[in-house]
Amino acid sequence: MTKPPLILAHGGAGKSPMTKAQRACLAEALASGYELLRRGAPSIDAVETTIKILEGSGVFNAGVGSCLQLDGSKRMDASIMEGRDLRAGAVAGIELVRHPISAARLVMEETAHVLLVGPSATRFARHWKLDRQSPPTRAQQKAASVKAMKRAGLSGAQRRTLSVFAQMQTRSRREARDTVGAVALDRDGTAAAGASTGGIALMLPGRVGDTPLIGCGVYADNEAGAVSMTGLGEGIIRLAVAKEIADRLAGGASPVMAVRLVLAKLATRVQGRAGALVLAKDGRFAIAHNTARMTAGYWNGSGKPVVKDKFER
Ligand code: ASP
Repeated sequence: MTKPPLILAHGGAGKSPMTKAQRACLAEALASGYELLRRGAPSIDAVETTIKILEGSGVFNAGVGSCLQLDGSKRMDASIMEGRDLRAGAVAGIELVRHPISAARLVMEETAHVLLVGPSATRFARHWKLDRQSPPTRAQQKAASVKAMKRAGLSGAQRRTLSVFAQMQTRSRREARDTVGAVALDRDGTAAAGASTGGIALMLPGRVGDTPLIGCGVYADNEAGAVSMTGLGEGIIRLAVAKEIADRLAGGASPVMAVRLVLAKLATRVQGRAGALVLAKDGRFAIAHNTARMTAGYWNGSGKPVVKDKFER
């Protein structure tokens, strides 16, 4: 017997309200992902397609719209996982690729590994002839570093006299925003999860967050469901949040209870701030955050995709 399919997607958790362009893009991405599920495609296809639309839009911090690290490079992270056989793939610190999520899927399907990093991940994507994006221009690099320093509250004189590394040490008002992710359940009852990001503001070159780490930023297991996280990776990693939520689902907790308990633990143990898409194997789901807002939505084919920037808190 086939099951009713469902897809959820997010565009990051943080303080800023969702823009009109983000709302439209998220609705389009959900509709495209759902259409695949409706036609009987596997959930992994729906998750990849949905995330590719968000990565290609330039209005989220992923793919084309990714933020730059403090040395002016755009290094991106992504991961994808399927719950039937617990297959997973991920890339970290990948450059010049338009769709890091597709590189992650290729790692899953074409290698015996789970995670490729840095220039080798970039070469891997080139080998598979994935669509490319141009490197940041000098002007973009300069604008990004001035913006980052201003956001950190550094004066012009401080900006001129301190190295980027010293500046990073000086202030640590790191901010996470506009990362993207999706989870889906297909007609066969297979769950899949994915996420893609350009990282956070004011990050040292080489910094990697939770997004490409299986069990931290994403998890999918047909015996539990699927989870995709967003928020400051440094906290999410330390609690392996996606796996902890999935374990609670497998133990019988509802998506709302599972995410509520784990976000509370994240806040009390490591002062963490995050948002989550949680989809249980039976189709119940929760979108929750302990940040002021979370841009996210869902669609099960009836009416129109629902997209908002505030959910259960
Ligand atoms: N989790 C991402 C990271 O830490 C950022 C985000 O979700 O906004 O790299």
